[in-house]
Amino acid sequence: RSGFVSIVGRPNVGKSTLLNRILGEKLMITSDKPQTTRNQIKGIHNVPDGQIVFLDTPGIHRAKTRLNKFMVEEALSSVQGVDLILFLVDGAFDPEKEAGMIKEVLSGVEAPVILVLNKIDLIPKGDLLGRMAAYGENYPFKEIIPVSAASGDGVEQLVQLVHGLL
Ligand code: GDP
Ligand code: MG
Repeated sequence: RSGFVSIVGRPNVGKSTLLNRILGEKLMITSDKPQTTRNQIKGIHNVPDGQIVFLDTPGIHRAKTRLNKFMVEEALSSVQGVDLILFLVDGAFDPEKEAGMIKEVLSGVEAPVILVLNKIDLIPKGDLLGRMAAYGENYPFKEIIPVSAASGDGVEQLVQLVHGLL
């Protein structure tokens, strides 16, 4: 199984942390400050029957400055021409407030999209199912997966799912 998988989402939702976790190495720069990742960085995950190329993209922004505009364009282009998209959100975000941005970024996208609800270590367990369901009403995600990129919870299940979809 081989393919290109793009990881997209707002700045600071944990894209680089997730990619580090998947690759099992500290390859990416992570930071508390948004926008550390200025360029698309590829990480290759070798599996017995092939390899998966992960793309770590700059976050999706409302364009205000020229730099931000560039980053929006990068994020939008990174959802084109890939086999699978991991759309990351912060578990603490309000799904209703993300709905418009999700539709905008994913409009016209044909590849399957997995919604990854990250940072579940920071949210009350009782909030999880309701938030997952709310995201499901915003877009026909292939799957909605709760993870903690920081602790590793759910990441193995996510990798299995990615393999199964490629
Ligand atoms: P990116 O801008 O989307 O690439 O986000 P980063 O991977 O750089 O992470 C932004 C911040 O969120 C860093 O301080 C990370 O340590 C933190 N972070 C990422 N994933 C998690 C998580 O699952 N739980 C918690 N508590 N913090 C996380
Ligand atoms: Mg990053």
